[in-house]
Amino acid sequence: MKSFSEVLNQHRLRMDRISVETLQVNMGRLCNQACRHCHVEAGPSRTESMDERTVHKVIELLSGTQQVHTVDITGGAPELNPQFKKLVVGARKSDKSVIDRCNLTVLFEPGQEGTAHFLKDHEVRIVASLPCYSRENVERQRGKGVFDKSIHALKHLNSLGYGKEGSNLILDLVYNPSGPFLPPSQEELQRNYKAELSELFDIDFNNLFTITNVPIKRFLDDLRKSDRLDDYMELLANNFNPRTSLRIMCRNLISVSWSGGLYDCDFNQALDLPWGSRRTTLWDISSFDELTGQPITFANHCYACMAGAGSSCGGALL
Ligand code: SF4
Ligand code: SF4
Repeated sequence: MKSFSEVLNQHRLRMDRISVETLQVNMGRLCNQACRHCHVEAGPSRTESMDERTVHKVIELLSGTQQVHTVDITGGAPELNPQFKKLVVGARKSDKSVIDRCNLTVLFEPGQEGTAHFLKDHEVRIVASLPCYSRENVERQRGKGVFDKSIHALKHLNSLGYGKEGSNLILDLVYNPSGPFLPPSQEELQRNYKAELSELFDIDFNNLFTITNVPIKRFLDDLRKSDRLDDYMELLANNFNPRTSLRIMCRNLISVSWSGGLYDCDFNQALDLPWGSRRTTLWDISSFDELTGQPITFANHCYACMAGAGSSCGGALL
C-alpha cells in the first residue's frame, strides 16, 4: 500500500488550510461510556480535563476572530466538564453557533438534570451518536444499557423541541460502521433511520451523518487483534477519492485539546500529531485567523477521510 502522502503527490494535491471556520474544542477524556471504537480512548476513569484558564483563553480568542463561526464541543463527554457551560455561554456571547457532541446517556448522569434545558436555552445544536436503530448493534459497540437510555434521551430532546419540524433546535445523529467497512450511502441510511425511529419509537431528528471509522486508538487495537488491519487499510486506500480533497474538515477547522494544544483535527490530536516542527498552543497565537494557509499534517489514518464519499465530523463529504 502506498503512503497517504505518496498518493497526494501522485494526484498533485496540495492541501493547506483554506480558512478557520470551525473551532473544535475537546474538553477532555472523561466519559460515562467506554465505547469499543472510541478514537480518544475516553472512559469513566480518565482525568484529563480542560481547566478554567484554558476555557477563558478559548473564549478570549473567539471574541476576536472574523473567520470562526462555529464552535464544535467534544470530549469524552464534554458536559461532564465543570467548565462546559461557561464555554457555551462565552461562545454564544461572541455570536458563534455551538455544537455539543452528546453521547445522549450523559443526560442521565448525576448533576446533568438541567443540561438538556441549558442546551435548549442557548440554542445549542446537538450531534448525538446512535450507530444503529437496533439495540443489539448499539450495545455491541457502546455498552450494555446504552440503547434504552439513548432512546429515552432522544424522546426527551424531542419533547423540548429538538429535531421537530419548524423548530430551530437541531438534533443530528451520527452513524459509524460496526466494523472495518465503509459506511453505506448517507442519504439512503438517513431515510431508513427516519422511518425506523419514527415507527418504532416516535422519534424525530434532522440529519444523519455517516462517519468512517478512523484506524487509530481503540479501533486500531481491535483491527490488530482480529488481524484485519491490512485489509481495512487496503479498503480505504483502494477507495481513495481525490474529489473529497476540497472538503476534508481539516481544511476549514482547528482542533484545541483539553490542555490548550492546537491540532489539525480531533484525530491528529488523539495521536498527538502536531503541525509543523513545533507544538503550538492557544498562548502562541493572537488570533485563530492567523492559522489560515498553514500546511496540514497528514498520515495514513487520513485515508479514512478521503475514502468513497469521504468522511468528517459533519458526515459524508460528497
Ligand atoms: S461516548 Fe464518545 S467519547 Fe465516550 S467513549 Fe463513546 S465514543 Fe468515546
Ligand atoms: S484525519 Fe487527516 S484528512 Fe482527516 S481531518 Fe484529520 S488531518 Fe485531515
